[in-house]
Amino acid sequence: MGSCNCVEINRTALRHNFEVCHNIVRDNAILAMVKANGYGHGMVECASLFEAMGAAAFGVAETAEGVELRQAGITKPILIFTGVLPEMLDLIVKYALSPVVVDDDCLSMLSSKALALQREIAVHIKVDVGMGRQGCSVCDFSHLFAMVNSLPNLKLAGVLAHFPMSDDCGNKSTGEITKKFFREIVNRCEEDGGGDYYSHVANSGAILYFPETRLDMVRPGLMLYGYYPDGEAGRNRSLYPSLKPVMRFTSRIIQLRDLETGVGLGYGHTAVTSRKTKLALLPVGYADGYLRSMSNKGEVLIRGKRAPVVGRVSMNITMVDVTDIGSVSKDDEVVLLGQQGNEEITADEIAVHMGTINYEVLCLLGNLNNRRYID
Ligand SMILES: *Cc1c(COP(=O)(O)O)cnc(C)c1O
Repeated sequence: MGSCNCVEINRTALRHNFEVCHNIVRDNAILAMVKANGYGHGMVECASLFEAMGAAAFGVAETAEGVELRQAGITKPILIFTGVLPEMLDLIVKYALSPVVVDDDCLSMLSSKALALQREIAVHIKVDVGMGRQGCSVCDFSHLFAMVNSLPNLKLAGVLAHFPMSDDCGNKSTGEITKKFFREIVNRCEEDGGGDYYSHVANSGAILYFPETRLDMVRPGLMLYGYYPDGEAGRNRSLYPSLKPVMRFTSRIIQLRDLETGVGLGYGHTAVTSRKTKLALLPVGYADGYLRSMSNKGEVLIRGKRAPVVGRVSMNITMVDVTDIGSVSKDDEVVLLGQQGNEEITADEIAVHMGTINYEVLCLLGNLNNRRYID
């Protein structure tokens, strides 16, 4: 309300994508990644929908996000992926959150707090078997595994790793990392008596392109929101029923102008009219996540047709050339991301102009604008 711009989230598409994932992994549990406010799609709304569809667990970055999910009524396990500071321990215990741990300090701290409050904390141990980022080393794993089993009031709920290149279906590293995870982690746990916990490594790329990575739980993020981690390439490959983009971003025409030839447009006059031009002004700009890198590059949809962005995108205004569209009116809907008629602008297309990936486009637009949910 009160904004000309709107991010529309299609619940039917969210359900469709969850179903596609479910059909791919079948009996494996699904841990739905809803960090970054559900990649811009709304963390609470997405988690509630996925929980109703059978998601086994959720993944967020921070403790505060986990608390928000619990307060919204989410009951399944919630994993906190980016670590725990001492001042968050009370919340972790009180809201029964499951931290991903990488060192023994964290385990000692969690155990003491859980013991003091007479509760049990479920933890997941993250190992770095080739990502080269967060995690304990393979050498340290046995020690942490033993600690979880011996310290009071801690329970091992999972062991996990992450892939650096699973979006590239031809890359060998994903298969190698999976083998190493089996050899060094899963087998070693089995030798130590196993237990009732999940082994999980697969993100969207691994789920889609590397069946051997699915183990007993998978962690899809991007694919639930209707996109492929390798962008257009994945879309075109389409191994499974295609995923449906969930987000649409719309604005409206606030002014139409008829300009003569030779008029410089906007800041820096980076575009000059080369003919009599009908110009439409949109109340959207880089402050809304429609970045300045879209200047003179992006396209939008009006009345089902493409119109090019002309001149610089400014903080709250973007100009598009609608000369070739025919009848256009003030107030017309403008689609910056998503479908209109038979045309579609994808986050992949926008990502190329912005010099980034579809993930970032969804986070940007989704988190900087008001969202509306439709079925
Ligand atoms: C974000 C994230 C995922 C999901 O990745 P997608 O490529 O979006 O499927 C899985 N695991 C971890 C540890 C993550 O941080």
